[in-house]
Amino acid sequence: MTQDAQISLAREPSVERIEGRHDSGLLFLCDHASNHVPAHYAGLGLTEEDLSRHIAYDIGAAMVTRTLARIFSAPALLTCVSRLVIDVNRGSDDPTLVMRLSDGRIIPGNARVDAAEIECRLRAYWQPYRLAIRTETDVMLAQGPVPILVAIHSFTPCWKNVPRPWEVGVLWDNDPRFAKPLIEKLAEAGFCVGDNEPYDGALRGDTLNMEATRRGLPGVLVEIRQDCIATPEMAAAFAERLAGVLRPLTANPAQHTIDFFPSRTGSLGDALEHDGMIHIDHV
Ligand SMILES: [Zn+2]
Repeated sequence: MTQDAQISLAREPSVERIEGRHDSGLLFLCDHASNHVPAHYAGLGLTEEDLSRHIAYDIGAAMVTRTLARIFSAPALLTCVSRLVIDVNRGSDDPTLVMRLSDGRIIPGNARVDAAEIECRLRAYWQPYRLAIRTETDVMLAQGPVPILVAIHSFTPCWKNVPRPWEVGVLWDNDPRFAKPLIEKLAEAGFCVGDNEPYDGALRGDTLNMEATRRGLPGVLVEIRQDCIATPEMAAAFAERLAGVLRPLTANPAQHTIDFFPSRTGSLGDALEHDGMIHIDHV
């Protein structure tokens, strides 16, 4: 890495933190909030148009996250760089951490990325985000009830020419405490809701696996179809509807507990041996 790159990196924040009440019982996360590519990566060789597409970030997800944080006076953490630089919602040893190809598009700036460059991006962007979550949850646990971690994502309306019918998907691993009632109440409220659709929520090393499942904290990943939140107005309106469903489910944070539900991706003990934070600290 050049000196210019190091200066640029030092100036740019990797995590945006929205202040909120530590006793709110809710922590909102947005892993794919931004399509920003720091200047020293020269756009990873992509066009502005490429970087405005879903390959670079979760369109609309940051707006929904900000609105929910405001409605619930809850803290939120959002990434400040594109998932094409590094995907913070992957384990530190996941082969898709830095994508060389995404939705059929070659990412030129990642084509020759080596282990040293991946390590550099882990330290600059991935680790600060994961540490921010760990710190925020520790403060919340010390000052109030157990927080539910709610990660907000968005997905494309079609995949390989197959339309996706769900307006919202609830992704979860093995902890039904919050996911099951949320799916039920979203359906009752008239949402077309997917249960572990459009993807399965069990992903070894991802944000919720590491920061909720392995810590015994309740958590859920909410995927929203991008055409439902395509403009700031639509995103705000969708967040309001979502908040209406979340409110009764989160009205008694004193009832939240720490309970361990071994991940479908492997046993808890096995998973801890591969804890990304430990791996990074020891490199
Ligand atoms: Zn996402």
